[in-house]
Amino acid sequence: MTTSWMDGVTRVAVLTGAGISTDSGIPDYRGPSGVWTRDPTLIEAFTYGSFMVDPEVRATFWRTYRGHPAFSARPNGAHRALADLERGGFAVRVLTQNVDGLHQRAGSSPRKVLELHGSIRETVCTGCGARTPTSIDEGDEDRRCADCGGILKLGVVMFGEHLDPATVGLAERIASHSELMLVVGSSLLVEPVASLCAVAVNGGNRLVIVNRDPTPYDDLATAVIREPIGTALPRICAALAGG
Ligand code: ZN
Repeated sequence: MTTSWMDGVTRVAVLTGAGISTDSGIPDYRGPSGVWTRDPTLIEAFTYGSFMVDPEVRATFWRTYRGHPAFSARPNGAHRALADLERGGFAVRVLTQNVDGLHQRAGSSPRKVLELHGSIRETVCTGCGARTPTSIDEGDEDRRCADCGGILKLGVVMFGEHLDPATVGLAERIASHSELMLVVGSSLLVEPVASLCAVAVNGGNRLVIVNRDPTPYDDLATAVIREPIGTALPRICAALAGG
């Protein structure tokens, strides 16, 4: 099965959000059982300014993350479909808002995956900038750098932090040079990532959105697909590969 919006597509940029990982048991943020919906007070723990000044906030943060399902989660069929599409020789770039690393675990090449909001698998020193693999069994709730004593944080973009400008610039170039921008499981409420859709459309490319709920960019889209991601994405990838 192919549909007209797939015609002539040789390069696809896939923008993924929390919705692609919920089938892997990782809760989204804003859905009915989302992280922020269930406990809005956690937003403080995920805000850079509060995290940096308050050891109690840091303790809450690390306690919340220690048992996070993302550390043990496995990729699902949607992650694998994208990895298979790349493996089959199709030009796929993944731009992800997710910090769970599941695209790479599914087999997407790390150099083809841009983690716009960072990764929980890396811990960063706010003092010297050193990056180390995240330890999840550490008991210490106010983690400090072994080298400089600086406050350690997860390598994810917290509220109040800016995205890496070089990463955003690269994402914009990918969005403007791919004939198709496929958005999967993102509510497109978080900037500057959401405006990558406008970059794609302004570049003359097609925008197709696969998401459970309406997004602010639906009106710009060539097609909007409400079907569950777990069935929609493998079908779309198979059609692109066969097209
Ligand atoms: Zn340090």
